[in-house]
Amino acid sequence: MDKYEILKKYFGYDAFRDAQERLIDSIMEGKDTVGIMPTGAGKSLCYQIPALLMNELTNGITLVISPLISLMKDQVGSLNQAGIHAAFLNSSLTAGQYYKALEFAKQGRYPIIYVAPERLVTEEFLDFALHGRIAMVAVDEAHCVSQWGQDFRPSYLKITEFIDRLPKRPTVSAFTATATKEVRDDIIDLLELQTPTVLTTGFDRGNLYFGVMTGKDRYGFICNYLQTHKGDSGIIYCLTRKNVEEVCERLTKDGFSVTRYHAGLTDGERRKNQDDFIYDRIPIMVATSAFGMGIDKSNVRFVLHFGMPKNLESYYQEAGRAGRDGEPAECILYYAGQDVITNQVFIDHNQDNQELDPVTRAIVQERDRERLRKMTFYCFTNECLRDYILRYFGEYGSNYCGNCSNCLSRFEEVDVTEAARGIIGCVESCQQRYGTNVIIDTVHGANTAKIRNYWMDRNPYYGKLAKEPVYKLRQVMNYLQLNEYLTVTNDEYAIVKLTGKSRAVLEGQETLVMKMAKEQERRGKDKTEGEKGKKGQKGMAAALAGGEFTEKDETLFEKLRSLRLKIAREEKVPPYIVFSDKTLTHMCIVRPKNKTEMLSVSGVGEFKYTKYGERFLQCVRENEGTVQETAAKS
Ligand code: ADP
Ligand code: ZN
Repeated sequence: MDKYEILKKYFGYDAFRDAQERLIDSIMEGKDTVGIMPTGAGKSLCYQIPALLMNELTNGITLVISPLISLMKDQVGSLNQAGIHAAFLNSSLTAGQYYKALEFAKQGRYPIIYVAPERLVTEEFLDFALHGRIAMVAVDEAHCVSQWGQDFRPSYLKITEFIDRLPKRPTVSAFTATATKEVRDDIIDLLELQTPTVLTTGFDRGNLYFGVMTGKDRYGFICNYLQTHKGDSGIIYCLTRKNVEEVCERLTKDGFSVTRYHAGLTDGERRKNQDDFIYDRIPIMVATSAFGMGIDKSNVRFVLHFGMPKNLESYYQEAGRAGRDGEPAECILYYAGQDVITNQVFIDHNQDNQELDPVTRAIVQERDRERLRKMTFYCFTNECLRDYILRYFGEYGSNYCGNCSNCLSRFEEVDVTEAARGIIGCVESCQQRYGTNVIIDTVHGANTAKIRNYWMDRNPYYGKLAKEPVYKLRQVMNYLQLNEYLTVTNDEYAIVKLTGKSRAVLEGQETLVMKMAKEQERRGKDKTEGEKGKKGQKGMAAALAGGEFTEKDETLFEKLRSLRLKIAREEKVPPYIVFSDKTLTHMCIVRPKNKTEMLSVSGVGEFKYTKYGERFLQCVRENEGTVQETAAKS
C-alpha cells in the first residue's frame, strides 16, 4: 500500500492537508523531521502513516513518545478503532498487563507503540528495544523537552540517551504546536536531530470564530450563550478554582448539565469529570487552565473564557481546543477589569519563580507583565482579533478576517481628541507619577479616598471628562497606549508616561479618531453572536453540499449522533473516536444508500465501514423512510 491508500483505507480521508504530505515524505526519505503545526492540523497522521509504511517494508516498529497517559489512551483507542494494531506502555497498566503488552511487542504485533518517556531507559523496555527493530522514534508534544515551553518534562531529556543505546539509529521525528524560536531550537538541539527537515504551517485556525465581550453581567452572557447552543459540547475556562465552583454551581442551578475540573479536586473526581466530558455524557466542562493538555476531543464547539488568561499563548492554546475537527467553532472571551488584577497577583506570586535568583526572577516577571499587557490589549483592540493574535505569534494576517467580533460588528468612527487631551494632560500635570486607574479616576472626577490622598482632586484635569463613561475612557486610554501616544512602565507600578507622540495631541496639532462599537450594538451584541454561530455551522455544511443545511439534515444529524453515542458506549470509547462531527455532517449531506457511497464520506475508512457502516446506512435509510412517510401523509 502507498500513503494515499493508507490514508483512505484506515483513516477514510481522500487528501492530505497542507504540510502532512511533505512531512511524511521527509520521514520516508529517512530524514529527521520536525513538524510545527497548530492544534487540530493533523500531526498524528504525519508519523502514523510513515509508521505503517515502514512496518510494511521492513517490519520496523515506531515508538511514539508522549507525555500524557490520557493522550496515549486516546490515540491508541483511535488507531484500534481504525483497525491498526497499537498499544501503549505507561504506568496506567498493571505489571501483568505491562509484561503482556511487552511480550506482544516483542512478537512484532504492533507497528506503533506509545510509550511514556520515563519507561524508555528501564531494563525491561531496553531489553525489548535493543532486540526489536525500532525504525522510528516520533516525539509527540516535543516542546516538553524545552525549559522555555510551558510544559517542561525532565524525562524528555532521556530520549537521546535511549536513542544512543539502540544498535541502529532510527529516524527521529518531533511534533509540537509551540512555535517560538527558543522552543524550536531546543527541540533540535536537545533531541540531537541530524540536519532535520523543519516545517512550520501557519497558525491561523480559519474555522474558529473569535469574540471579545466586555460588560458587567458575564454570567448572564454565558447563560444566554449556552441557551442558544443547546446540545453542543464546550469548555468554560475560569481564572480561579473559586470561579469554577461558583460558575459550575450557578449553571447547575439554572438547569445546565455541566461538570468541573481544577487542581483542588481529588484525582478520582478529576478523572471522572474529564471522562464524563470526553465521552459526551456531560456536554459542558467548567475548568481552570489545569484542564486540557492531552484533551483530543475533536467536537468541542465552543470555548468560553469567563475571565482573561495571563497571556495570549495560554489563550490561544485554550481557545484552540475548540473545533479540532475543522468544523466551525467559537472562542469568546468575557473580559472584566478585575481580570488584570487577578493576573497581576498570579504573576507576583508565581510559585515556579521562587527558585530563581532575584535578577532572573525580575526579568521573568517583567516579561510576564508585558505578556499580560498584550493580552489586555487584545480585549480592547478594535482591529481584527485574528490579525492581532497572528501578529503576536509573528505572522502577518490580512487585517480583516470576517470571522471575529471586531470584523463582524459595525464600528463608528469617533473623534476622541478631547478625551485624549484630557488624559494626556492629566498624565503631564501629575508629573507622570501615577498608574492608569488614578488617571482615569481623576479625569472622570471620582470622589475616592485614594484620589484625595494623592491630591488629585486638585489637579487641573480633575472631572474634566466627567460626562464620558469610565469604560469609554478606558478604551481611549488603551488606544493611546496601543498607538504609543502614552506608555506604561514595565514594573509592578505600571506608571503612565508620556512619549514623543504625546505633545502633538496636547497642543491640538493632531486629531485622534478611533473605531468604537456603536452604543446600541454593545448591548445587542450577544444576540447577534448567537445567531452568527448557527449561520457559521450552516455555512460550512452548505460549502460541502453546495446547498443549505436543512431542518431535515439536522434531524438526521441528531439520529446519527445518537447512534454514534450508542456504539461508543458498546465499544467503551469516546464518541468522536467512532466518527467525528465532521464525518456525521458529511454523511447527512451525502445520504449514502450503499457501501460505495458510504465509503465516499470523509472519515469513513474500510475498517470502520466493516464495523459500523451497515448500522449507519440503516439509520440513513430509516430516516429517509420516515421523511417520505410524513411527506406522503401531509
Ligand atoms: P493535532 O494532533 O495536530 O492536534 P490531530 O492529529 O488530532 O491533530 O487531527 C485533528 C483532526 O483532523 C482529527 O480528527 C483527524 O482525524 C483529522 N485529520 C487529520 N488529517 C486529515 C486529513 N488529511 N483530512 C481530513 N481530516 C484529517
Ligand atoms: Zn477579524
